[in-house]
Amino acid sequence: MNRPARALSQGLWVCLSCRQLIDPPKGAGSCLCPRCGARVHPRIEGSVMLTWALTITGALLLIPANILPVMTVIYLGSGEPSTIIGGALELYHAGLWGIALIVFVASIAVPVMKLVGLVMLCLIVQLRLDVSPRQAMRVYRVVNAIGRWSLLDLFMISILVALVDMGAIAEVHAGPGSTAFATVVVVTMFAVRAFDPRLVWDMVAARERETLSAQDAARPETAPDTQNNHTENG
Ligand SMILES: [Zn+2]
Repeated sequence: MNRPARALSQGLWVCLSCRQLIDPPKGAGSCLCPRCGARVHPRIEGSVMLTWALTITGALLLIPANILPVMTVIYLGSGEPSTIIGGALELYHAGLWGIALIVFVASIAVPVMKLVGLVMLCLIVQLRLDVSPRQAMRVYRVVNAIGRWSLLDLFMISILVALVDMGAIAEVHAGPGSTAFATVVVVTMFAVRAFDPRLVWDMVAARERETLSAQDAARPETAPDTQNNHTENG
């Protein structure tokens, strides 16, 4: 199959700050972008390891984010701290199923989907799983797009805390769970940034190179020695 040419196989790198193509000095592991001065690496350094670290941190923080109360609503002098799930259920029982759905999607479905997507991407690249690279990129695009929607929940809490301060009648306090949840959102945002999607295509190129050299090795040895030096250096 003919794939489009890759900058890396032409010996070029790209600056992730200003998207300038760079002809790097021979043998260098990194260089400065001649246009904007940013440090340029052929791929994001330690991309998979960093993504793993941030994803695992996010998954661990999801535990306190769901166990600890995210907010306390005190109405007419009484009220109990509620967790994310507890809050969503309370909203549902109060007949506010629309807001309950938003809370559920923003605080539970989106972070979990995002973490699962990141784990899938890391496993695909690290174990060179035999999945279609286009499917992997679809996962990457979804993970990249949904992340910011988790912030909706935090905005809701912060708006409630700021607006509902009616003295003795009603009060809203943010709980420690909201700090943990905010950290989950931020950490997973960094995890997505740390993942270099070009690694998916590196994996495909490596696989194609392996197939080519396997075909070369299987070819009968009648061919002269001059034509076995065409393995591409990516
Ligand atoms: Zn640049």
